[in-house]
Amino acid sequence: MIHVQDASNFLKIIKVGLTTLYKIIPVEPFNLVLFGGTGDLARREILPGLYRRFHVGQVQPGSKIIAIARKHLTEQEFLNFVREAITENLDSKLIEETNLVKFLSLISYRSLDANNKNNWESLKGSLDLSLTTAYYLSVGPSIFSSIISNLAHHDLIRVNSRIVVEKPFGHDLASAKELNRKLSKVFDEGQIYRIDHYLGKETVQNLMALRFGNVLFEPLWNSQYIDHIQITVAEKGGVGGRGEYYDNSGAMRDMVQNHLMQLLCLVAMEPPSKFSPDAVRDEKLKVIRSLEPLAANDIVLGQYGQGGSVPSYREDVGNNTSTTESYIALKCNISNWRWANTAFYLRTGKRLRKRVSEIAVVFKKLPHSIFLDHPQINGNVLAIRLQPNEGINMTVTIKEPGPGGMRLIEVPLDMSFAKSLHGEVGNLTNAYERLIMDVIRGNQTLFMRGDEVEAAWKWTDTVISCWQNNRKQPQIYDPNTSGPEDAYMLTNKDQRRWREIEV
Ligand code: NAD
Repeated sequence: MIHVQDASNFLKIIKVGLTTLYKIIPVEPFNLVLFGGTGDLARREILPGLYRRFHVGQVQPGSKIIAIARKHLTEQEFLNFVREAITENLDSKLIEETNLVKFLSLISYRSLDANNKNNWESLKGSLDLSLTTAYYLSVGPSIFSSIISNLAHHDLIRVNSRIVVEKPFGHDLASAKELNRKLSKVFDEGQIYRIDHYLGKETVQNLMALRFGNVLFEPLWNSQYIDHIQITVAEKGGVGGRGEYYDNSGAMRDMVQNHLMQLLCLVAMEPPSKFSPDAVRDEKLKVIRSLEPLAANDIVLGQYGQGGSVPSYREDVGNNTSTTESYIALKCNISNWRWANTAFYLRTGKRLRKRVSEIAVVFKKLPHSIFLDHPQINGNVLAIRLQPNEGINMTVTIKEPGPGGMRLIEVPLDMSFAKSLHGEVGNLTNAYERLIMDVIRGNQTLFMRGDEVEAAWKWTDTVISCWQNNRKQPQIYDPNTSGPEDAYMLTNKDQRRWREIEV
């Protein structure tokens, strides 16, 4: 890999062989204070992601990464942890020892308990607050509030400070409002970055490029041509080590309120007047506010049972009377001119057949077929795949090649980014690193605004109350399937079918 600096000395062009892979704009030196530096998220995503941004030259020497956690570790012990995090989570081709050593020299570690006042002054002493300083809360939500208060109390906030808040942003509307209130006491909205890593995915941004950068799709992007839209986020794993948290939340709060609703917003929103943070977020907010309340029969809840050696959900969370949903499917409607009567089917769950996330836009059937042997021709399907194999795929009807008359077949028109970018894209970008660079650059387009999160919780609360008032219980489903039987009925009763959960 070689770096080429352009004439303005501003843009770095990364080349592999003769191919220009992508261009990066280096960011000015910054401080990143990473609360939760020893946690799972830091280890798997944030620290390896920061290394990659350093490796490609986007993070400049002079930047500082200060990791904070409760554990007492020496500086060297923490650096060993970072080295392991990088080697475990990155392709070895991306790790160059000299670069890694330089990257480690940017990092320091502090043991600090966010719930008390010790060591904050020494943290302050180690920061040059004239630089852009991002405080990343990669910790459980129970200590968000203490960190915010301590940052203010110890005078660690300047106009160029930013705060990144991990999910979950609240548990319901009331708690989200309370967190927004705490944040807004000490930070301006322009300094608050509520992270939803789904928005940092390449394909999600490509959805906007596809819709608003091409003339082909937008004229058809409405209820006149689109029959329905399916949004699926299927996970193969169970609740893992997050049992206690998950059992208190469930799929609706953990996945739908944030990730699926964000995807819904991007697929359904009106074109913003420009690709700027507030213009985009205004349009997303309008979608959320246009979501109709659901009826009980628009909601399907599921919980995975035991299968072979796979423990049941209740065993996983250690609560044998739990009624928390590990699966949810919803049929939603957006009441505006563009989408009146278009169904949006959302589903997400754990222990499903495959790990796959996609948005499928299913176009209407042709009004009339001129082909006598094919009286019914299916509508095209545009599938936007977030994982695995990020890419966009469209089914088109063509003539089956060869003699034998006019036989029609559906074939995929595959726009797989990994292929077209020589298989390198997956190696060189990931959602967290992109979003962290946006924080440093001060670009909030891919972050949720306070009113957006509150609107999402407001709707989420009505959905949860609806199933609670109707005493709906989750239906048990077998692990490694597509979810509970009732989910099939949600689409079948509308003469539609879920897409297969497959890679
Ligand atoms: P974790 O339990 O693995 O790590 C928590 C970290 O917080 C540790 O470094 C711990 O030392 C630190 N911590 C806990 N109490 C502290 C205190 N009083 N003072 C200072 N530090 C303290 O958690 P995680 O999985 O890394 O998740 C962190 C946050 O990110 C959570 O809010 C989680 O919901 C969110 N998140 C995690 C993932 C993931 O894949 N792990 C994905 C999305 C969002």
